[in-house]
Amino acid sequence: MNSALNRSLYSPGQTLLIDADDTLWENNVYFERAIASFISYLDHKAHTPAEVREHLNRCEHATIAARGYGLVSFRSSLADCYEQLTETPLTEEGRKQISSFADCIDCHEIELLPRVAETLEYLSARHRLILVTKGDLKEQTGKLERSGLSSHFSAVEVLPEKHNQAYVTVTGRHGCEASKTWMIGNSPRSDINPAMSAGLHTVFIPHEFTWVLEHEVVDQPPAGQRLLQLESFGDLLRHF
Ligand SMILES: [Mg+2]
Repeated sequence: MNSALNRSLYSPGQTLLIDADDTLWENNVYFERAIASFISYLDHKAHTPAEVREHLNRCEHATIAARGYGLVSFRSSLADCYEQLTETPLTEEGRKQISSFADCIDCHEIELLPRVAETLEYLSARHRLILVTKGDLKEQTGKLERSGLSSHFSAVEVLPEKHNQAYVTVTGRHGCEASKTWMIGNSPRSDINPAMSAGLHTVFIPHEFTWVLEHEVVDQPPAGQRLLQLESFGDLLRHF
C-alpha cells in the first residue's frame, strides 16, 4: 500500500488545494499588532491584557458566527469588547480610534512567506493548483492580486467557512479525485481536519503565529489518506 501511495505522492497531475493566510503570506501577525494597540488603548484597570484578549476571543467567536470573517467583523469585535469590558457605550471618537487599529491590516504590502513564489512556480507546472481560502471575498481576492501569485492558480475559492461540507462541495465542483487531491495549510481546524474528514490527503505547515481560533489537535488520517507535516512551504518541492 505504501509504495502505491508514494508513487502517487510524487507523480504529476495532483490537485493541490492551497490555503492563503499564514500559508502563502503573513496575515495573523497584523491582527496581533492591531489587538496589541487595542489593549493598550483600552488600558483596563481591573482586567489583565491576557483577560482582555480572552474576552476579545469570545467576542470574535460571536461576531464571526453572526457576520462571517473579515475586517468588518474584526472592527465590530473590538468595539463589542470595549463596550462590554468598560460597560460604557463607545463615543464616535472612540469608535474611530478603535477602527483605525484595523486600518493597517488592509493596506500593508503582502509579505510572502519564505520560498513561496518559487515553490508555486514549480508546483503549478506539475499540478493543478486551486487557492482555497475563507473570509471576505473582496479582501481575500485583493490580497491575492497584491501578492502577484494569482497566475499560478487555475481557480480561486473564497469560502464563508472551511468545514467538511465546504471541502466536499469544492472538490465536487472542480472534479477532484480524492486519491489525488491534497489540502495544504497552516490551520488544523480549517485546513487539515475537515479536509481529512472529506477524504483528502493533507499537508500541515504550522505557522508560529496561527490565530488562536484556528488551534485544534490534528486528527490521525483515516486509512489510505496521507498527512504530511512540513516545516515550511518550500519543503513542498521535495514531495510534489
Ligand atoms: Mg491560514
